[in-house]
Amino acid sequence: MQGLMMDMPLLISTILQQAARHFGDVEIVSRRVEGDIHRTDYRGLETRARRLADALSKAGVADGDRVATLAWNGYRHMELYYAAGGMGGVIHTINPRLHPDQIAWIVNHAEDKFLAFDITFLPIIEAIAARCPNVKGWIAMIDPDRQPSSDKIPGLINYEALLDGGSADYRWPTLDENSAVGLCYTSGTTGNPKGALYSHRSSVIHAYAAALPDAMGASSRDVILPVVPMFHVNAWGLPYVAPMVGAKLVFPGQHLDGQSIYELFEQEGVTYSAGVPTVWLGLLQYMRSKSLRFSTLKRTVIGGSACPPAMIRSFRDDYGVEVIHAWGMTELSPLGTLAKLQARHQGLPDEAQQKVLEKQGHVIFGIDMKIVDDQNQELPWDGSSFGNLLVRGPWVVREYFKSEGGNPLVDDEEGHGWFPTGDVATIDSDGYMQITDRSKDVIKSGGEWISSIDLENLALAHPAVANAAVIGIAHPKWDERPLLIVVKKPDAKVDRKDLIEFYDGKVAKWWIPDDVQFVDEIPLGATGKILKTRLRELFADYRLPDAA
Ligand code: ADP
Repeated sequence: MQGLMMDMPLLISTILQQAARHFGDVEIVSRRVEGDIHRTDYRGLETRARRLADALSKAGVADGDRVATLAWNGYRHMELYYAAGGMGGVIHTINPRLHPDQIAWIVNHAEDKFLAFDITFLPIIEAIAARCPNVKGWIAMIDPDRQPSSDKIPGLINYEALLDGGSADYRWPTLDENSAVGLCYTSGTTGNPKGALYSHRSSVIHAYAAALPDAMGASSRDVILPVVPMFHVNAWGLPYVAPMVGAKLVFPGQHLDGQSIYELFEQEGVTYSAGVPTVWLGLLQYMRSKSLRFSTLKRTVIGGSACPPAMIRSFRDDYGVEVIHAWGMTELSPLGTLAKLQARHQGLPDEAQQKVLEKQGHVIFGIDMKIVDDQNQELPWDGSSFGNLLVRGPWVVREYFKSEGGNPLVDDEEGHGWFPTGDVATIDSDGYMQITDRSKDVIKSGGEWISSIDLENLALAHPAVANAAVIGIAHPKWDERPLLIVVKKPDAKVDRKDLIEFYDGKVAKWWIPDDVQFVDEIPLGATGKILKTRLRELFADYRLPDAA
């Protein structure tokens, strides 16, 4: 027997409509590339998004057509999300920190029809326009009086002029909820980038799930500043979550340094933020140097790479801010797990609670996960057995865009497909997952595995260490041994011996790095994560002391 409930498709346009109707006067504040602070609200945003959708459809954007962006977090970017996605097109966010050759490759692979960009990225557009024949128009997201001109960009359009041609009478179409709405490419550290193609249904369900109290836990009382860029897996879903719950949004634009972020936090009363660990390193350093406090910030989601326990503690003990450690990936829209305390943890001593919060966390309902060995046999949830992490769920990819890379799924005995994350993890008896490493970063020493993440986290707890990375170095006897690479804090005095001794008693003796190298900076990838591939290149000729 069928249920007798209405069959209303889950569409992202309904999120913005709801926000305009119920939270119409809730503000959206943006620091713009023009240099000023811009203010609008959900009602204003929804009207402009409809006009933009109309303008895009008049310009020839049809169902399934890709509209790409190279843009910071801002209200125009948000309008594009809803206009392109809501009308039946696909919003394709591109990471501007990638090399222009990679960007051109991605634009051509995605067959983007239009590309909207903040003028910061004009040089990238000039470098790629001639190589991207599918793009009919390049849309500069800037006030008309600041519109750039360039003879290298045929079809250069002004965003506001385009929007002016759209009618506010436009109505959002009723689409199939399984139709595509968003496209994000993985950063492709190995092989070509691969596209995750989200549907309306997956995006709406992901937003519901993200908003749950034990997930991101956003509400209409929050003022959310996503530091995580809207080109990094849709700012982890916040452009859908915030209007869904009616939270005020604050967009930081291009200035992501500690001072600029801090100023916006304070001026706009931000209660909630999200970003990768490296941005918080910058913010915390700035705040320490100026002896500043947060007056409104209460929580921040930290993920994208392992959040060092020392950072979780500093946020809590020095600033009274709760860190929600989260794990996810582009292929998961991106949220998979988040670490929050459950009722069972309430009575535990502080130290034990901290250990729970340091893990990558518990799945949100909708995601199923397991760890398996190399023969695909499931491993126990005992907190110590570690293996390849597999997931499935309604917001997990089943196939990459244009089948790039073939079928990624691993079937179980019942024929269910599981997505192999490429991460190695443990799961404890309470269902809390902890990432040991990315499978390609784990250090294999004498047939056993050493977690580079654990060693980095320990180094980051040393008071003289500003940033740290650990990579495996070839060793004639052990196969690989860990090398610790460290950026010292300004004026800090620390040497190799101090750091090696710092590990004593904290990890098994055979885990302790064989050597330490000091560097001025650690290379970061396009999403602010440590670029281990680059580090391995930089240290390709390095020999460990006893292996020299
Ligand atoms: P890319 O590899 O393209 O940067 P993602 O941004 O999707 O792709 O990164 C996903 C990967 O980032 C995960 O598979 C995992 O290795 C890592 N990651 C994400 N969050 C965490 C976390 N909290 N702790 C450790 N690793 C994480």
